[in-house]
Amino acid sequence: MRVILLGAPGSGKGTLGERISRATGFPRISTGDLLRKAVREGTPVGRKAEAVMKAGGLVDDATVTGLVRDRIAAPDCLGGYILDGFPRTVAQAEAVEAIDPARPEVVLDLLVSEDVIVARLDGRRICEACGDVYHIVNKPPKPPSVCDACGGDLVQRPDDAAATVRERLRVYREATAPLQARYRAKGTYRPVDGDGFPEDVYSRAAGVLAGEGCRL
Ligand code: ADP
Ligand code: ZN
Repeated sequence: MRVILLGAPGSGKGTLGERISRATGFPRISTGDLLRKAVREGTPVGRKAEAVMKAGGLVDDATVTGLVRDRIAAPDCLGGYILDGFPRTVAQAEAVEAIDPARPEVVLDLLVSEDVIVARLDGRRICEACGDVYHIVNKPPKPPSVCDACGGDLVQRPDDAAATVRERLRVYREATAPLQARYRAKGTYRPVDGDGFPEDVYSRAAGVLAGEGCRL
């Protein structure tokens, strides 16, 4: 199975993807994580992507598709995989279908209102050391600005500031929303209400996946 997580930035794709990964054993592949790693390591891809990401734009299709092609060729993807943050354009959707055409597919579109999204992302804090995710209101760390898991410093992702969030949402509506119509026409589109607690969102998504014959 190829599980595609659609949904705006801040809709909770990462959290949901991790839960589905634990339940199914499918690896979660986040193109945002792959790109941030490339930026940290200063690879040619990272050097190309850094400025675009910081401005809230989209990295070019060929670069991102290359990352995904390499990743889904790994043996742990044989039984299935979860794509988080990819595809984001129709060209990327076509590319993954060409790379792995026989794979059954389900597209979970996490629907969350824009006000909720801006509040979630603006308050999001990430551990610099281990990547754990917190929120200043919804999931505060015990001592302020220190990671509960490892004691690392919590920072705001440079593209999570309110102004950049609005730009990311605009880009999402323009480039990614057309994917909804495409997957609806293909018959693999499944909307999921993304409001509320992570456990509730997961139960809704798990219900959909079970209906598609996914073992959880
Ligand atoms: P979010 O979904 O919260 O925006 P991500 O971590 O998925 O966060 O992505 C962060 C940034 O990485 C995006 O704003 C974009 O610049 C870049 N990026 C991630 N995935 C893609 C993709 N599939 N195509 C183009 N750019 C991408
Ligand atoms: Zn940590």
